[in-house]
Amino acid sequence: MSRRGMLRVVLPRSSRGRRPSDDRDRHLQFRDAKRALKHAAMRDCCRRCVYCAERLALEEATLDHVYPLARGGTHAAGNLVTACARCNRLKGDMLPHEFFARHPWAGANFVRYARAVHRALKRGARRAVSLAYAA
Ligand SMILES: [Zn+2]
Repeated sequence: MSRRGMLRVVLPRSSRGRRPSDDRDRHLQFRDAKRALKHAAMRDCCRRCVYCAERLALEEATLDHVYPLARGGTHAAGNLVTACARCNRLKGDMLPHEFFARHPWAGANFVRYARAVHRALKRGARRAVSLAYAA
């Protein structure tokens, strides 16, 4: 028996009978979920970029993972803020304390405007800002 035949036997039924429209539904669900996250983040971040404090329209706001996905961060609401594209690029994959050590102004705004982020992120930001200003 070919390997392909073996696979067909062990695969669960649901993954075989999938119609193309299922993928589209999933995509729509993902898009709606993302939009809901963005709305919530906008509300929680005072409709501003949490780093430069610029007021943002919904379409120019980007979602930033405070603790970057590339460094093990998650999609949890407490790790999501709104940022302008410029600050999001500037931050890149830096950890929050690395970013705030380099740009204390961003940390100060973050402490002020990222109202719903995880408490530990806020505490870290406060510490990074005071260290940067003390240096
Ligand atoms: Zn910004």
